[in-house]
Amino acid sequence: MKRKPFLAGNWKMNLDRKASVELARGLRDALAGTNDRDVAVFPPFVYLDEVVQALAGSPIKVGAQNLCDEKNGAFTGEISAEMLVDVGAKLVLVGHSERRHLYGESDELCNRKVQRALSVGLDVVLCVGEKLDERDGGRTDAVIGRQLEAGLAGVAAGSMGKLTVAYEPVWAIGTGRNATPEQAGAAHTHLRGVLRRLYGDAIAQSVRIQYGGSVKPDNISTLMNAPDVDGALVGGASLKVDSFLGIVRFK
Ligand code: PEP
Repeated sequence: MKRKPFLAGNWKMNLDRKASVELARGLRDALAGTNDRDVAVFPPFVYLDEVVQALAGSPIKVGAQNLCDEKNGAFTGEISAEMLVDVGAKLVLVGHSERRHLYGESDELCNRKVQRALSVGLDVVLCVGEKLDERDGGRTDAVIGRQLEAGLAGVAAGSMGKLTVAYEPVWAIGTGRNATPEQAGAAHTHLRGVLRRLYGDAIAQSVRIQYGGSVKPDNISTLMNAPDVDGALVGGASLKVDSFLGIVRFK
């Protein structure tokens, strides 16, 4: 099955207000009328509102990098799914490796976040990925399979149209060391197999699986040619118009 490519930029904790809006406007102008691939950006929370406004009328979607697993109340410093919808976000990252490994987010917490996001109609990009010692120990498939299955616990088949999976090997994020197309393809094929076991073949074939980890304009095409790779989640190279465009416009 042919899946529409999905390229997304995770700005992490970078840029300021002015740079965020300028980057959004630059992408908006360059990508006007683009409809053969989906594009999204994930700015910091505090710039979501302005980036949504800058991208009004553009096919580029805006998402948040995180959300709270609770609906509202005494959760100082947290941001709810409803708040994201309120400012015009359409999607949200869950389980980015920096959340899992720097802030201790468990599979169970990620699952609650997935459920919260879906309950308000947000699309979800659920991130999974193994650490270097897990890869070296031959545990890649077990780790990413567990993260995917646990993250999707209780998610109905009817919601899977709102799900994207991002395979992001932790050792490849921000290191300049991308997975080889063979490594990415093998992991993606494994993840699609997990989706098939959980939801059947039709849904497994329709869910997009992005690769993330040191994606650049000069390696995107070979990565996109790997089996089951349907797009990319991009950190560092998404912070400048030209480099992100070089990825979005891969051939
Ligand atoms: C990411 O932020 O998800 C990521 C993959 O970062 P980078 O592209 O910088 O490795």
